[in-house]
Amino acid sequence: MDYEPVIGLEVHAEMLTQSKIFCGCSAKFGAPPNENTCPLCLGLPGVLPVLNRRVVEFAIKAGLATHCTIAPVSRWARKNYFYPDLPKGYQISQYELPICVGGHIDIAVDGATKAVRLTRIHIEEDTGKNIHDQHGDASLVDYNRSGVPLLEIVSEPDIRSSAEAGAYLRKLRAILQYLEVCDGNMEEGSFRCDANVSVRPRGTTTLGTKAEVKNMNSFRSVERALEYEIARQIDLLNSGERVAQETRLWDADREVTRSMRSKESAHDYRYFPEPDLLPLEVPEQWVTEMRGALPELPDARRERFMRDYALPVYDAEVLTARKDIADYFEAAVRAHPNAKAISNWVMGDVLRAIHDRKLDTALVIRDWPVAPEHLAALVRLIDNDTISGKIA
Ligand SMILES: [Zn+2]
Repeated sequence: MDYEPVIGLEVHAEMLTQSKIFCGCSAKFGAPPNENTCPLCLGLPGVLPVLNRRVVEFAIKAGLATHCTIAPVSRWARKNYFYPDLPKGYQISQYELPICVGGHIDIAVDGATKAVRLTRIHIEEDTGKNIHDQHGDASLVDYNRSGVPLLEIVSEPDIRSSAEAGAYLRKLRAILQYLEVCDGNMEEGSFRCDANVSVRPRGTTTLGTKAEVKNMNSFRSVERALEYEIARQIDLLNSGERVAQETRLWDADREVTRSMRSKESAHDYRYFPEPDLLPLEVPEQWVTEMRGALPELPDARRERFMRDYALPVYDAEVLTARKDIADYFEAAVRAHPNAKAISNWVMGDVLRAIHDRKLDTALVIRDWPVAPEHLAALVRLIDNDTISGKIA
């Protein structure tokens, strides 16, 4: 039997706000444990949340950039569960009325483009972080992350391969980076992805039983985990067994997914409207202003690079996939207008060196010691026959 994978992705993106979503604590990553905390984000009794206006702006920006409808009224909800990293026993989220609905993200795989539809984008607060295995048997909790604002971006099950999932995530990350809403750093956990995966006989339309796969912390691990999970489900069906509805964790060392919990024991979050916050009203005027202030986004920049610099589509795609790389390229071309030669250097030696130095995470080109003017000067020396490409 020929099977078709059906994949939907849920992305949690930490917003690049100065302060947390409901208190004035710093939202910055990397402070000493529990330094960025106050009675509110520690969940102590007697406190009340105050919404950070910038969080709403960021959500509107993300929604507009992905063609969503911005809801004039959305509502906050309590998602109840007990876990040590969630001291007040509930997470403030959005449930039946999210701020952004509909929308889509366009991806290109093997020369074909398609739109992956979005179900919704909603705002919620992040939890603290449990730290295990570092102090003997003791588990520690760091609440610096508690109350850092998150966007949860939920796709429809429109993705049909691990390559499409990778393309979707790279495009979504690029959009959020261009908007300066999220730094997109998967290793530091500011851009996290869970996948719902099922398979069905090709040509049928009903959905198979899905498994939820978690714990993937790089684009590579998302693709590897999906490939493993798709093959595992097809093997089960081919041998006459059933796929269990469950949550599975990706084990990057052994390159397998393993069962974490079955859906029978899944949480009932008992959502209800958050009584401490008013419904969120977004005036149309505000949306119009935000729409007018959107920056150039990856697709538009790719088209402009092809038009203004006469670059092939491949070059334009690679250079604009990350905002910092695109900025670097344009700064170099301003200093020496030989776009194709500079494109070759950026796509070849620069990206390779960045990758080799493990700087290949978000927004790191600022740490790269060769300034764009230096690269431009180097290419100029080749162009006026002072040195050869090899010597350069
Ligand atoms: Zn706080």
